[in-house]
Amino acid sequence: MTLGGVAFWWLPDAEPLPAQTQPIPAPPPMHAAPAPAPPLLDQAGILTHVAREPTALRWAANPRVWVLDFPTLASQGGAFNRAAALLEKAATPRDRILDDAALAAAIAADRRTPEDWYFGHNYRLSDLERMFALADAASLRLNPTEAWLREHMTLARRLEPGVEVAVLGIPAIGPRVDAAMRASILRHELAHGQFFTMPLFAAHVMAVWQRGFTEAERRAMRDFLARDGYDTAQEEMMANEAMAYLLHTPDRRFFDPARDLGWSDAQADRIRALLSERAPDQPGP
Ligand SMILES: [Zn+2]
Repeated sequence: MTLGGVAFWWLPDAEPLPAQTQPIPAPPPMHAAPAPAPPLLDQAGILTHVAREPTALRWAANPRVWVLDFPTLASQGGAFNRAAALLEKAATPRDRILDDAALAAAIAADRRTPEDWYFGHNYRLSDLERMFALADAASLRLNPTEAWLREHMTLARRLEPGVEVAVLGIPAIGPRVDAAMRASILRHELAHGQFFTMPLFAAHVMAVWQRGFTEAERRAMRDFLARDGYDTAQEEMMANEAMAYLLHTPDRRFFDPARDLGWSDAQADRIRALLSERAPDQPGP
């Protein structure tokens, strides 16, 4: 059931039902039955999906990767910006959840808007669960999109007890997101999905970050990520982002090794080859 599907019940100018019309059954109570598991779609299917409202999907190639498809950047930011503040951004605390005013101030301090603080998102389910526990402890009132997210994270945990789940966010095509950008965002985020759910791949990425990159190369990548507000003290996040940018971000508007790192093509290709040695086949171009 979708809220959109029942909204007309409340329109004040709705025509009264003709007497002979069969009464339409009332929608079931909100929590009468568990929500169904989100559909499994391949990468192409996710790409062509059009979200009219926040929609949970799962990646058929790896069902522990949940892709939350949002109709707008604003909707995506509403769901995930507080998580970005807690888990990723350099200027915000790692151990305390921000209220709405503090979150808005943090975004403004980055000279960004809630729409473009990030264009895509990726988290471990376990980290989002910790965020919701912190929100409860702080008696923080979640916004409606966060409440939707929480409902689906509860479902994810019920479907995948005791294992890690990757939770990704992507925006629909819109005024600031064209088709190539959406494809690049999806591919980049799916790569994070693999990192979060495939420990051997993650260990390989960490080994390449620590031993395959030179110190100067790590510094170039940290500097690039710092310009996007990332907390560069988190080595695992640095390695995960380095992998996703170098292997799976084809749109040069988002990432260009020469422009963003000062690397030659050969230098980028040397690292790409190391990262690819144990990379899973998906996601594809
Ligand atoms: Zn990323």
